[in-house]
Amino acid sequence: MSELELHTLLVQGVFLVAALTVPALLFISAPYGRHARGGWGGQMDTRLAWMVMESPSVLWFTAVFFAGSHAWGLVPLLLWVLWQSHYVQRAFIFPLKIRPGGLTPISVVAMGFAFNLVNAYVNARWIGEFGTYEIGWLLDPRLWLGLGLFVLGYKINRRADAALAALRKPGETGYKIPRGGLYELISCPNYFGELLEWTGWAIATWSIAGLSFAVFTAANLVPRALSHHKWYKQKFPEYPAGRKAVIPFVL
Ligand code: NDP
Repeated sequence: MSELELHTLLVQGVFLVAALTVPALLFISAPYGRHARGGWGGQMDTRLAWMVMESPSVLWFTAVFFAGSHAWGLVPLLLWVLWQSHYVQRAFIFPLKIRPGGLTPISVVAMGFAFNLVNAYVNARWIGEFGTYEIGWLLDPRLWLGLGLFVLGYKINRRADAALAALRKPGETGYKIPRGGLYELISCPNYFGELLEWTGWAIATWSIAGLSFAVFTAANLVPRALSHHKWYKQKFPEYPAGRKAVIPFVL
């Protein structure tokens, strides 16, 4: 089997995992954060869990990317910067901003780590080796539409995560109703931002590899947003009735 065939197989694997994730998460919410519960084996510190889980998307992605023969091209480098702008924050800055002392099942961390290994390889290898991004791609509207969506999603995601982090005073562990900005329309603007980012990535790279990650993100985060939304409505009788779960005015 050639490496390109292996790459194709892995991309198909990501689509398959996405297809299985939707029904699984509609019945069993991923057991971390507010949906944490027993029965998922040993646990580890949540901040460390995020760092471990997301680190392949920074380190392994970079190693795979720079092993590619197109890595020093202007467009591939731009795409590498885009990816890293999200994942350096997610792996090494975001964990320091969430409340200390939380616990996450090691099984969840192991699944996230394994997924990120595959996903980082698939995307980094595509932009650094198998894909063709000549300098002319800089004039293609797909690149700029994708970049625009990515940046918009990034801002929404960062702002929404920061708003959640600000809800708790030092030492607090409970939950409050988030208010302001997109929270007036949806329960999970952080997930909405994430969906826009990876849709933007798929468009900017115009690749099946990028599309597979966008589809997986939706398969993972839309059911989780529905679980969060239901949980908010059960926990807070005064929860704003007009708020949707994850897509303003729609879902
Ligand atoms: P959540 O919104 O569930 O939680 C984010 C943080 O905010 C947690 O520390 C949580 O605390 C805290 N928090 C959430 N709601 C409240 C509230 N109402 N009151 C007080 N504190 C609150 O997000 P996730 O942990 O699922 O995800 C974190 C980030 O990672 C998001 O930006 C998400 O988009 C991204 N992500 C991306 C994925 C992908 O497939 N691309 C997959 C998963 C996450 P606690 O932990 O105690 O609940």
